[in-house]
Amino acid sequence: MITKTKKMLPRREAIKTIALSTLSAKLLADSSSNKIAQIDSNAKIVIVGGGTAGITILSHLTKSIKNHNITIIAPNEIHIYQPGQVYVAAGLYQTQDILKETKEYIPDGVEWIKEKVESFLPDENSLLTSTGKKVSYDYLIVATGLEYRYEDIKGLKKEDIGTRGISSVYLNNTDTGEATGGLLTWQWFQDIKEAAKKKKLKLLYTMPHTSVKCGGVAQMIMYLSADYLKKENINAEFIYTPSGARLFGLKAIDEKLHESQKRYDSITNRFHHELIEIDIKTKIAIYKHEYELKKGWDEEFQEWESIEKKSEIVKINYDFIHIVPPMVATSSVAKSKLAKDSGHFKGWLDVDMNSLGHTKYKNVFGLGDICGTPLGKTVPTIERQAKVVKNNLIALITKKELASSFDGYSVCPIKTAYGELVLAAFDYNGVVKKDQGFKNSKKKDWLSDLYVTKPEYWSKTLRGEV
Ligand SMILES: Cc1cc2nc3c(=O)[nH]c(=O)nc-3n(C[C@H](O)[C@H](O)[C@H](O)COP(=O)(O)OP(=O)(O)OC[C@H]3O[C@@H](n4cnc5c(N)ncnc54)[C@H](O)[C@@H]3O)c2cc1C
Repeated sequence: MITKTKKMLPRREAIKTIALSTLSAKLLADSSSNKIAQIDSNAKIVIVGGGTAGITILSHLTKSIKNHNITIIAPNEIHIYQPGQVYVAAGLYQTQDILKETKEYIPDGVEWIKEKVESFLPDENSLLTSTGKKVSYDYLIVATGLEYRYEDIKGLKKEDIGTRGISSVYLNNTDTGEATGGLLTWQWFQDIKEAAKKKKLKLLYTMPHTSVKCGGVAQMIMYLSADYLKKENINAEFIYTPSGARLFGLKAIDEKLHESQKRYDSITNRFHHELIEIDIKTKIAIYKHEYELKKGWDEEFQEWESIEKKSEIVKINYDFIHIVPPMVATSSVAKSKLAKDSGHFKGWLDVDMNSLGHTKYKNVFGLGDICGTPLGKTVPTIERQAKVVKNNLIALITKKELASSFDGYSVCPIKTAYGELVLAAFDYNGVVKKDQGFKNSKKKDWLSDLYVTKPEYWSKTLRGEV
């Protein structure tokens, strides 16, 4: 009886938040959709990628274009709700809860080529698929996501994840629809619990120097595992080792996360640590530690007299390690003329950060993780980008001025404990104070994220209704 009451209460609260989030999503749509009436066009549009971004823009375009002529090139029969991998790791979702057949989201009349693009040939308005098929287009939308590079960490193979105390919640294959990282990490939680009965453990959580999907995930796994063990009265040494200098790039969120860490006795942060090698047999993580040695503060000029850049190798032994792999642009884009050829985003899709149109090829657009634009790689980013791409593509087809501008919006729901999350909502101008999607209390945000976001992803995001 008691168990039933406990289970029902959060659900009831969650339902209240459904109303809230639906209302706010509507407001959001009204303020930024810049509505464009349906057009009639049989211009050939090719979408590459069947993940969040590819399917969402497909839904928008099939609804907005009468007599459309759209081809999607996507290898995946199964679509993964990737944010749910964290809740699988926490033991709150099953893997099957986060998978659906892609065909549910391919409307009648759309051609689906179940292959990968091998080469993009933008000078010829065409591309080649993995079986050598040449596909021409009038307009191209690139939504190929990113690739993991576990093997860039010397001594590590993808196959090592789930063995010898190593886990990585990110592990998945978006080409085949396999999402193994969640379950392996849940098993990792159990293994830690068992091992902790014998000795006080040292746990490491890494974060690479590259852009990553939803930047808070490494910390989510640290907090959830720490809270899970705390509930079992187990204490351990938790060490967060990010390449960067902060818990989060934006000061306000960074401060909230430092505050959240105080609930745990034994978390330490070792900033500027990039995992470059691992000895999986002896359980030693090897980091490149770069820092600045500052000397002689000058009061008058308000600056340091000398700043010396230092680099050293740091070895940390561990019992368990959670690894976030370096992430790079998908290779088909990185090697093509569509990629940026220099700078921090070298290899990523070269689109304008506001219009999402390619900077050189005017009939090419991009959205989702592949874009070489600053800030978020999250689902809310894609929801907003999809409207911008739809509007701007239609404007181009109908020979009008570009209609919409992307503001960089992103939301990362950083789980800081079971039942609590810090919502990081931001755009190109910084933190979005009045976030539209959630009520902004740590518990309500958690309930909404756990119970509401997933069904809305399947029924609204991917259907182009947010
Ligand atoms: C563990 C984890 C936790 C996350 N947590 C959150 C969260 O809490 N909140 C949030 O909003 N977001 C979260 N995200 C991020 C979010 O899931 C992604 O930002 C989003 O799914 C990216 O969508 P995408 O379409 O750009 O890329 P993907 O969904 O990765 O899809 C890219 C698709 O392109 C295909 N593809 C690749 N190359 C080619 C090619 N050459 N030809 C044809 N197709 C190709 C792939 O098969 C793939 O299906 C999380 C992600 C992970 C992994």
